Amino acid sequence: MVGLADCNNFFVSCERTLNPALENRAVVVLSNNDGCVVARSNEAKRAGIKMGQPAFQIKDRIRSGEIVALSGNHLLYRDISLRVHDIFRRYAPCTIDYSVDEAFLLMDGIPDSALRDIGEAIARSCWDELHIPVTIGFAPSKTLAKIVSESCKKRGRRVGVLLDAESARPVMQKMSISDLWGIGRRLSKRLYTSGIYTIADFADKELGWIRANLGVNGERSWRELHGEHCIELSHVQAPLQDSVSESRTFPEDVDDYDYIRARIAIYASDCSKKLRAMGGECRLVGVMLQTNRFHTERGKAHPEGCVRFVDPTSDTVNICNAALSILDRIFIPDMLFKRAGVWLSDIVPAKSVTPSLFDSQDYMRDRASRTHLMKAIDSINLGPGMPVLKLASQITQGHAGHNDGYSSTFQAPTK
Ligand SMILES: [Mg+2]
Repeated sequence: MVGLADCNNFFVSCERTLNPALENRAVVVLSNNDGCVVARSNEAKRAGIKMGQPAFQIKDRIRSGEIVALSGNHLLYRDISLRVHDIFRRYAPCTIDYSVDEAFLLMDGIPDSALRDIGEAIARSCWDELHIPVTIGFAPSKTLAKIVSESCKKRGRRVGVLLDAESARPVMQKMSISDLWGIGRRLSKRLYTSGIYTIADFADKELGWIRANLGVNGERSWRELHGEHCIELSHVQAPLQDSVSESRTFPEDVDDYDYIRARIAIYASDCSKKLRAMGGECRLVGVMLQTNRFHTERGKAHPEGCVRFVDPTSDTVNICNAALSILDRIFIPDMLFKRAGVWLSDIVPAKSVTPSLFDSQDYMRDRASRTHLMKAIDSINLGPGMPVLKLASQITQGHAGHNDGYSSTFQAPTK
């Protein structure tokens, strides 16, 4: 199950922590140079103020005191945001900070029966410690979690738990397709012409139609609405974690060195991409292999190894080469492996890396140009799915039939 924790009317709630006189009043926060509305209290929403509405359109209502308009205090919002996310992390085994006021809570291993209490505890802590109201929705997929938290907010509930996709129907019937995560206003206009008005209409369409008309992103949303996990956020900006890892179970046991080597290269390059996305560099790279514990005819083993860099790095080529050198050291010929993984740790913020006294001018110039290269590659490979640019070592030689379902999997053409 996955949860979405979302602060209610975040900027306005932050302002209210400083000035309790704003409680129960129609409050809006305006964008830079007071151009338009970027946040509204519930009272302002009820008064008909729209998101993004230009300030001049409501200036009379502001002057009369009906609506309180504030210039954004983004340092305050950032400070409270960090503290809210700390509270989320206290209660969930793993979280993904999705925006300044939202985080996904990955509840793997937590029994469904405990979710409501955990949600209540999070909401209570955010309110008692920070005076920030939070709504939390739990569901089998991120898209459904968004829908649950959205509908809880509308009904004034703090926590909602939706155990299966089917029970989301009544809510989906009441929500406009334009409120579906990932469907923009432009796209929803196109869907109206096909008779899709609500999220339920969208979920009822045949998958083939969705795929043909909306492509892979539409298909992901559709599958998520049916309770399948499809949307990964591993590449969005996240604060520094202590480690980054990727590991996968192969569809069948493998003794093919080339196949495993390509997997390790893919996982290593994906870890480096994540590392850069969170603005970090690592000092330690590790690789592990695992045999199938149910098939031990050819023996069982769990070889592991790691390499330490002198200078922290986030360069795909460095990390990949290190991972492959570890693989060469730990690989056992003729052993059947079921699982492989790569991890990076000893992570430091990229900015804080100071050159050593003995680094030459050339080394520093090279380092800077490598950073530019990685930035360019990341911007070309932006978004989920198969990367456009990859290292040659990521390409599987032979074994074209294997597919471990990994997003970066390269399907080798038949020879
Ligand atoms: Mg929010």
